[in-house]
Amino acid sequence: MHYAKKRATTWIGYKVHLTETCDDAQPPLIVHVATTPAPIVDRAVLDPLHAALATKDLLPARHLVDAAYIDADGLVAAARDHDVVLTGPVSKDNQWQARTEGAFTIEAFHLDWDRKIATCPAGHDSRSWHPNYNLGRTVIRIRFAAQHCRACSLKPRCTRSQCRLLTPRSREEHDALVAARARETSSAFAADRRRRAGIEGTLSRGVRTMGLRRSRYLGLARTHLQHLLTATAINLGRLAAWIGDTPAGRTRRSAFARLMAQPAGA
Ligand code: SF4
Repeated sequence: MHYAKKRATTWIGYKVHLTETCDDAQPPLIVHVATTPAPIVDRAVLDPLHAALATKDLLPARHLVDAAYIDADGLVAAARDHDVVLTGPVSKDNQWQARTEGAFTIEAFHLDWDRKIATCPAGHDSRSWHPNYNLGRTVIRIRFAAQHCRACSLKPRCTRSQCRLLTPRSREEHDALVAARARETSSAFAADRRRRAGIEGTLSRGVRTMGLRRSRYLGLARTHLQHLLTATAINLGRLAAWIGDTPAGRTRRSAFARLMAQPAGA
């Protein structure tokens, strides 16, 4: 038996992953349902999910996902294997340079992948460039010469060590991460985030009105059948609302959020 944990919630059993359309001119419909054992990490479902969508000729040009579904490998694999642009918040650069104004993140360096040389903001070339393979992942270790860094007037903005070390992923993954992080600053990305949040309403509806959070049966296959039936019921409800011109409901606000939105003294 394995426990799964998401933030403060722990449980045993399964996890359901719903994929739905979000085109303006169409009713939002669930087009794929994946059920996995609970401890399977979310991003592990993406490749089989895309393969399944491909067999149904339903692959999207862009797939809006949450942070748990996206990493550098996934970005590259989705584009390479399925021609899908994965869109969602990627992992942050956690180094101190990324949190310090004026400091040099890896984007400030020029990486010449063909010659395997990096050039720093002070104009020095790297001393070494070695790929490291760990658990099927490639991380490049690029080191600059200590003699250059020690004498460098830019060092306070660059490194707190003897010399600067860069650790980008493989070329494809590094480029995909840099492009994804750049996309996150655009207003189009903010609009995509709001659109993706629609799936939270779908899950909430499944949980509140159809008991999605409780498996009625034992075993993965039967639980998956329950999930399929729940998704079918949601789709039928949506189609009926679409045909009947029923306007979409507004996003529910909790009593606490309504209270906090009131002007002071009201
Ligand atoms: S500290 Fe080293 S790597 Fe950084 S800018 Fe100066 S010489 Fe270049």
